[in-house]
Amino acid sequence: MPRLGVLGWPVAHSRSPAIHNAALAALGLHEWRYQRLPVPPQLFAGTVRALAGSGFLGANVTIPHKGAALEFADSASHAARAIGAANTLTFAADGAIAAENTDAPGLIAALGSSPRGRSALVLGAGGSARAAAWALREAGASEVLVWNRTRERAEALARDLGVRAVARAQPADLLVNCTSVGLDAAPLERSATEDRPLNQLGLTFDQVGEYSYVVDLVYRSGITPLLTAALSHGARTLDGLEILVAQGALSLELWTGRPAPLQVMRQAAREQDPAG
Ligand code: NAP
Repeated sequence: MPRLGVLGWPVAHSRSPAIHNAALAALGLHEWRYQRLPVPPQLFAGTVRALAGSGFLGANVTIPHKGAALEFADSASHAARAIGAANTLTFAADGAIAAENTDAPGLIAALGSSPRGRSALVLGAGGSARAAAWALREAGASEVLVWNRTRERAEALARDLGVRAVARAQPADLLVNCTSVGLDAAPLERSATEDRPLNQLGLTFDQVGEYSYVVDLVYRSGITPLLTAALSHGARTLDGLEILVAQGALSLELWTGRPAPLQVMRQAAREQDPAG
């Protein structure tokens, strides 16, 4: 039985098994299974090596293993090396482990229109911010700005990736939240004009109106405060589940060699979400 999974710690909350198992069924790959693989950091290397030799064809990798996945792999794509993280591993028949980053192309695919020639402000300086900043730069954004609560991390990211760190949020065409802010926030009314939930992102409610397209990588049950504010301003929005599906689709295509059934994956991602 060909097997796939998602390596994380913790990983109980992951929607990837629902998304991928629905996709595998839709592709007629009834023998295939995708499962959660809860693995603490100290067991990561040994577990990956064991998976590669026991019927697993590949795995997604999530917090906190994306850096370790890149280091441990036998080969890595240009994107994974440039970003410094891998979210997808593929195991060859001879046990060789290849690392890829589908977070970056997944974001660009999910945007639905090219960021070429448009400016972008990325919020955050963690793993997903690195993938987003690199992806936007590679896709031809006219300028990629990065703001982060801990400024030194934004400056380090900017140096590594050839983008620009900013001390405070600046207007741009595209705003991409790559922090975990909003994950646990109470839902707001769609018409709410509150500053408070946005202040952790270095923004006020009015400032959110300076971006015509607002993307939030955070996914949760219900809409995030950032997207609530963006919708109040009439901006185009994209939520984290769309990006999760897009990166998962690219991983699935790597493993199966088949086009991913995007609509089936979207539906599976939102099935557990009462607000979806
Ligand atoms: P990470 O590497 O741990 O980075 C976390 C980022 O959030 C850092 O920039 C951190 O700032 C910032 N942050 C955390 N708490 C904050 C607060 N209270 N106020 C201001 N900033 C805060 O995490 P990650 O892997 O980049 O993931 C970030 C988020 O994106 C998570 O919610 C994750 O679930 C989501 N994500 C979604 C997808 C998707 O497919 N939709 C993919 C990847 C990640 P400091 O540097 O100052 O600590």
